[in-house]
Amino acid sequence: SLKLSDRINKLEESATILMSKKARELTAKGVDVINLSLGEPDFTTPKHICDAAKSALDAGYTFYTPVAGYLDLRQAIAGKLKRENGLEYSADQIVVSTGAKQSLANAVMTLVNPGDEVIIPTPYWVSYSEMVKLAEGTSVFIATTVESNFKITPAQLEAAITPKSKVFMFSSPCNPTGSVYSKEELAALVKVFEKHPDIYIISDEIYEHINFGTEHNSIASFDSIRDRVVIINGFSKGYAMTGWRLGYMAATKAIAAACDKMQSQITSGTCSIAQRAAITALTSDMTPTYEMREAFRKRRAIVYDLIKDIPGMKSNFPEGAFYFFPDVSSFFGKSYNGTVIKDANELALLLLSEAHVSTVSGESFGDPNSIRFSYATSEDKLIEAMRRIKAFLSELK
Ligand code: PLP
Repeated sequence: SLKLSDRINKLEESATILMSKKARELTAKGVDVINLSLGEPDFTTPKHICDAAKSALDAGYTFYTPVAGYLDLRQAIAGKLKRENGLEYSADQIVVSTGAKQSLANAVMTLVNPGDEVIIPTPYWVSYSEMVKLAEGTSVFIATTVESNFKITPAQLEAAITPKSKVFMFSSPCNPTGSVYSKEELAALVKVFEKHPDIYIISDEIYEHINFGTEHNSIASFDSIRDRVVIINGFSKGYAMTGWRLGYMAATKAIAAACDKMQSQITSGTCSIAQRAAITALTSDMTPTYEMREAFRKRRAIVYDLIKDIPGMKSNFPEGAFYFFPDVSSFFGKSYNGTVIKDANELALLLLSEAHVSTVSGESFGDPNSIRFSYATSEDKLIEAMRRIKAFLSELK
């Protein structure tokens, strides 16, 4: 019989990917399912970036690349960090990977020893806690609620810290809540980190450009802790390049070298063609990114009004990313055709089988009271999906 490792047996299957699979199965049976479970822009990659990939092929970029990525790509990333974030990084402080997901995994595997604690505010992106498991660390969660706009306070952070704390890991803008920490809020957290010089901070900024507020703030802009920050970013969301698999980290030279070593034994440098295209993405006009952001902003307003119109659903007004994460706990204990809805998992499954809308239960994001809707789909589909959800929920007894 098959004897897999304890490591793999302990790992959860990604809930977002699982929900998409179920939705595809229903669609294949001819059911008209509206998919709000996806975590990717519904836009195609801008043409000038695709053209750069074609040119790269024609120019013979078909060989292995340096493990950390082409030097000119890392220089272009350093240029971006300076231009957009006011941060000084050199090319040897940057490692390009197969998606921000690999950058995160590299950072966790490089920093976390068995038994180390990794502090993660909930709700969090589904893979954080699983990566910590792979590194044999222990996740320590800080709970937040819709009332606090899903943000932690300095007091909560302080209370979560123990002598075993090694890493604090978060995303801003946040997937799944869309919350964005302001400069002042980050400054207050930084004050706590200043008192605990052994804690590293993994700052996932992949939704930087899908931010509807004024400006993006990186926690790495605070000099007192900057050497302990690992910035994670990538091309999937801001440039609609999910399938190209391209992300990066920026940190001290020592951490970057360690991630380079990790990557050298697992995947080597990511796709040569994607890397050449990424240089074009970083060095050309950002109009397509801003147009996408404006489309998301408009959809956010539409969906927010429709959510407010559903009695019992409680949502914050997300400031970034492309998700709503409403609290749906007021529906728990109600029943549908005799089935009592116990939790968000059951509600998400019923929304799929009965209302034909695919969402993701909050449980795998560490918040069992909510479900996540992605609004990375057309306005027509969003309006129809919310109509179906409202109709279904109004039938609950
Ligand atoms: N971090 C967050 C918060 C995300 O939502 C995602 C993708 O869904 C990633 C990282 C991974 O992005 P990539 O496609 O670059 O691996």
